[in-house]
Amino acid sequence: MLLSEIVAVCESLWPAAGAEEWDAPGLVTGSNNHAISRAVLAVDVTEAVIDQAIARGANLLIAHHPLLLKGVNTIAEDGSKGSLLAKALRANIAIFSAHTNADIVVDGVSDIFAKRLGLTNIRPLVPTSQITGHGRIGEFGEQMPLSDLVDRLSRLLPSTHRGILASAAPTTPVRTVALCGGAGDSFIHDAFAAGADVYITSDLRHHVTQEAPLPLVDVSHWASESLWLETASSQLARICSGVEFSVSDIVTDPWVFNQGRTK
Ligand SMILES: [Zn+2]
Repeated sequence: MLLSEIVAVCESLWPAAGAEEWDAPGLVTGSNNHAISRAVLAVDVTEAVIDQAIARGANLLIAHHPLLLKGVNTIAEDGSKGSLLAKALRANIAIFSAHTNADIVVDGVSDIFAKRLGLTNIRPLVPTSQITGHGRIGEFGEQMPLSDLVDRLSRLLPSTHRGILASAAPTTPVRTVALCGGAGDSFIHDAFAAGADVYITSDLRHHVTQEAPLPLVDVSHWASESLWLETASSQLARICSGVEFSVSDIVTDPWVFNQGRTK
């Protein structure tokens, strides 16, 4: 399949018009008329991920996070962006990203997180249309203590050194749950206003957590978004016949040890 044809399928699954203004999804490297036979999906473009794509014989890497989100003045190879780009280009690997446009859709990052967690009556936390929007909110069939929710999360999410943090007592009753895969601290007040008992997201800071109007659960940014990769891979494989899709199993969570947890 031509890269342009796969890009068109990606556009149908995750329309670029749904991306945030500051975002930069789409093609980073590669040429539209390149024939693609094998693609790897990952949350981040890192050296280990590109090495894995090379080892798998892939010529396309579909990443959630855009490699070039902010302005770049150099791609000299002693810089991180330059060395990654050079490696991908030399291996003839096209890089494509679906970021905030993949966050908001049905079967997108937050929607899959909510479904896999077992919530029902799932709807967008901050709707951008009837079915799309930022984050998700839904309910469990019955009330449970916050510690049970954290247990569920630890079984669902791939393990990371950061672990899972909660800002309320383990016995706090929860049933209505709001969540947002990735960094979702801007929706804390929306979660509270929507009647959530708890809000799950990533990258939460001290004051934001301390001053939040409802209990928060902080999960690994990478882990929360990684759940979406299998779904995206299956969706693409169903449409793109003749192209093999696989999900990278490289952990790209940036925290590599946590001494505090062992105390
Ligand atoms: Zn993210």
